[in-house]
Amino acid sequence: MANSRRHAPGEDGLRAVDLVTDHLEKPSLDDRTYRVIRLPNQIEVLLVHDPQTDKASAAMDVNVGNFSDEDDMPGMAHAVEHLLFMGTKKYPTENDYSQYLAAHSGSGNAWTASTSTNYHFELSAKPSNDEEPTAANPSPLLGALDRFAQFFVEPLFLESALDRELQAVDSENKKNLQSDQWRLHQLEKALANPKHPYYHFSTGNLETLKTLPESRGINIRDKFIEFYEKHYSANLMKLCVLGREPLDVLESWVSEYFSVIKNKALKPGRWEGEVPWGKDQLGVQCFAKPVMDSRELDLSFPFLDEDLLFETLPGRYLSHLIGHEGPGSVMAYIKSMGWANGLTAGAYPICPGTPGVFGCQIRLTKEGLKNYKDVVKAVFQYIALLREAGPKQWIFDEQKGMADVDFKFKQKSQASRFTSRVTNEMQQPLPREWLLSGLRVFRKYDAKLIKQALDCLRPDNFRMSVVSQEFPGKWEHKEKWYGTEYTVQPISQDFMEEIKKAAATSAKDRIPKLYLPHKNQFIPTKLEVEKKEVKEPALAPRIVRNDELVRTWYKKDDTFWVPKANLIVSCKSPIVYAKAANAVKARLFTDLVKDALEEYSYDAELAGLQYSVSLDSRGLFIEVSGYNDKLAVLLEQVLITVRDLEIREDRFAIIKERLTRGYRNWELQQPWTQIGDVTGWLISEHDYVVEELEAELPTITADDVRLFRKELLSQMHVELYVHGNLYKEDSLKLTDMLESTLKPRVLPRAQWPIQRSLIFPPGSNYIWKKTLKDAANVNHCIEYWLYVGDKADRQIRAKTLLLNQVMHEPSFDQLRTKEQLGYIVYSGIRPGATTYGIRFIIQSEKTAPFLETRIEGFLESMVKIIDSMSETEFENHKRSLIVKRLETPKNLDQETSKHWNQIHSEYYDFESAQQDAAHIKALTKAELLEFYNHYVHPSSPHRAKLAVYFIAQAKSDVSTKQISELVSTLGLSSDASAQAATDLQARLSAAGHDMDKEIEGLRQYLLHELKVSEDKIEAATEAWKKLHKDKIEANGVVKDADPPSSNGTTPQIIEDVRNFKAGLAATGGARPAKDLSEYEELDSKL
Ligand SMILES: [Zn+2]
Repeated sequence: MANSRRHAPGEDGLRAVDLVTDHLEKPSLDDRTYRVIRLPNQIEVLLVHDPQTDKASAAMDVNVGNFSDEDDMPGMAHAVEHLLFMGTKKYPTENDYSQYLAAHSGSGNAWTASTSTNYHFELSAKPSNDEEPTAANPSPLLGALDRFAQFFVEPLFLESALDRELQAVDSENKKNLQSDQWRLHQLEKALANPKHPYYHFSTGNLETLKTLPESRGINIRDKFIEFYEKHYSANLMKLCVLGREPLDVLESWVSEYFSVIKNKALKPGRWEGEVPWGKDQLGVQCFAKPVMDSRELDLSFPFLDEDLLFETLPGRYLSHLIGHEGPGSVMAYIKSMGWANGLTAGAYPICPGTPGVFGCQIRLTKEGLKNYKDVVKAVFQYIALLREAGPKQWIFDEQKGMADVDFKFKQKSQASRFTSRVTNEMQQPLPREWLLSGLRVFRKYDAKLIKQALDCLRPDNFRMSVVSQEFPGKWEHKEKWYGTEYTVQPISQDFMEEIKKAAATSAKDRIPKLYLPHKNQFIPTKLEVEKKEVKEPALAPRIVRNDELVRTWYKKDDTFWVPKANLIVSCKSPIVYAKAANAVKARLFTDLVKDALEEYSYDAELAGLQYSVSLDSRGLFIEVSGYNDKLAVLLEQVLITVRDLEIREDRFAIIKERLTRGYRNWELQQPWTQIGDVTGWLISEHDYVVEELEAELPTITADDVRLFRKELLSQMHVELYVHGNLYKEDSLKLTDMLESTLKPRVLPRAQWPIQRSLIFPPGSNYIWKKTLKDAANVNHCIEYWLYVGDKADRQIRAKTLLLNQVMHEPSFDQLRTKEQLGYIVYSGIRPGATTYGIRFIIQSEKTAPFLETRIEGFLESMVKIIDSMSETEFENHKRSLIVKRLETPKNLDQETSKHWNQIHSEYYDFESAQQDAAHIKALTKAELLEFYNHYVHPSSPHRAKLAVYFIAQAKSDVSTKQISELVSTLGLSSDASAQAATDLQARLSAAGHDMDKEIEGLRQYLLHELKVSEDKIEAATEAWKKLHKDKIEANGVVKDADPPSSNGTTPQIIEDVRNFKAGLAATGGARPAKDLSEYEELDSKL
């Protein structure tokens, strides 16, 4: 704890570094070593030596965020975050950093919050010779730290990147515009005290960051540099570096690269003068209209500032009780009344110096919406109950006990998630010894503080909102940034009187169903782990039972040594997917099971035991996971519920209504999240899309589900996996419990369902079009998919994986960074059940056929990138990919899912990573090129393509064709024209339908960016006015260019899915990579 002076070697001899501490409280299984130091410029650094990690990582948290934005330029902090990546004095090439990371199996990201901006990356932890890294033989971390540090030393804020990155910010904002989460959060902020920075619009858009400031004559680049200069200071930075190198090596690197960051000795932000909600903002109710068909009731109370209360955490005590879902809780009561589908409660901070908030959100049913006042009163009655009962030490002890166990057995998470999170937490005033344990363990019971916290939950100290599409039916205002419709008004006097009465109830006039929870029976008491030294952890589980009815896979944990286990059961039956109506009945059934188990399983969940019941095309899944001590108890209850559940009409109606909305809301989601399902449906032999399921739902009754359950459970084949801190006998006992509870008949082997994908012959060229349901959405989307072949073919796999590795960074750089087609630009591998393919997804204001031409343009250029790649670069890519493939699971859950994926896919290919690595290693550049020219190059007659087009209904944007015509009036070179077309399209779209704004945007751009002469500007303006008129006259319908075809095939629009599928052959089903008898370890005694 004492600060001693240390010395670390630097380039200029010796440089002083303070040791803050090297004794961090850590989980009992944690094999990392930690050291906290402070550099002479006051950057605090957490160094982490992890001898096992595959990935090295670093993160920097800067104590400034959107709360420091200037009032008239919202989004500044966020824009600076985007711009910081783009070139530094030492490494001036824009994508140098991302290229370096990509070449070493890595990636980076950043985020901006209210008082923090956080930058982080991770990459391969070992040097290219695969030996342990040392100072003399460093891992790629060294080069990454050098590049990373430069962001904070001398960033360039490149003029050339400025517009593009602001487009990226704008696109990010557009992506959020239809998201209720963003909309409602911003509404809450917009209704806060305008003098408090909570009121800010945090993301920013092109208008706030460019158009408006420039119209006021502001040079925005200067403004961003000014923000950086004013707020980025070494003493506000927290750094974490994690690697395989010894701590002393990490320390010397950090000292060398980060000590030069300027310390401006700035004061950390504190906001004390104003509160987010003053008298005027309390005692009000807000009614807001969501995009999705959802209903929510939201109560928030200004709360304590818990910044310094990390030892006592009174907010957690209250959220445990108010958020409880077991018997006696608010949730159990309002659910029994048919009013609610869910409830969450908790305290969260706003910023240092400002009181936090205690919030309670309730998802309402239709009935609940009608009775929302009674729901509010029930919450206040429960608060009265808590006040009357007073703080209870045993409740705190139970919470503390569980938190201690969880921390003790906490397993590692992804390297960059760890560094990003810990640097953010380092901004809190925690003792440095508690950086890892700080908010995860409870330390002191403080009844007085709990009472103080409870005193914040008063009728005169709260505000509420009701979110619903139908109630009250009319909304008076529109929120400025997202356009959310709302009304806000004081809570009526009558209603307030009722609330006050509820908050003052005593035991005799309280709802009898409200009481404190009982002691939790699920808290694990046996936490022993038998640790047996093993030479090499086993790659595959074993089969311990295999007969007509059941196949049980089992592996005793030999790596993580936690007192936990996972059990996954797959009950296979062909009837689940025989028709869409069955899939819906099965879904309703699993929803009803979960609904019935809610109260019972809540205690288990608190005690670290989870379960789930879900579906796929071959049957029903049951999963139970967590501390193994009481796992069997929970499994038994789940199985009994599956077997005996009484399907009540009232619950059925609520669940059915919820599912109806679920399907409808699914189609209102962001286009890019929907598109994968449609492609999946088109490439598999047998699948359903949401429209098909939605069409079946109205006619299904509770009786249908009762009958279906009976049929489903009567006959099946069961395959399960037991993994963790359990013995072989335990796995057999759990299997017996399954068998004796469900008592199914054998499903003969010949009837086990088989999954097949479709085969796309050479030259296939298909297009599927769909108009999106959300009338207000302006984003189109494309999934462009190229069929490659059999998923089990080792050569195909290796080549596809390597191509994806080589193509990933260039495709993002071209389509997202350079062309700014949209915020969502993604390329990757898209497997079917039995096939492999490569896909691109782009969500954009630009139309799908245009996006397709851009993807094809990129694919044409890609061949040159591969061709001109040096052997060293090519070998680096191979190495990088092999490292990724051989990455080991970080915790028990990850290993379980890795194995389960192999069991569930029926390939049982437990060595697939090793096999892939060996096949990748052998590949030559010539082979990759040949593969590319055959399967991917747009001019190849052999390639097989499917493109899914999602068409947005709202056309606030302009077509590519119109833009091209406009650009042709400017007489630019072809390169400049392409750039101008991209820029203008985004600019004009940002102006919406407003003609004056469009013209203004156009003039500004031509004048400042392209430096076009006045007469040409006049001509272009006239041309635009005419086009604008045409657009209006055409009633918003803009014709697109035809989709491209450069290999001589004609695109076929899929009109009839049955005909389309009937025209294609299907693959064989999945086959085990090895004979399953090789895994058998059956008990000879039985
Ligand atoms: Zn961003």
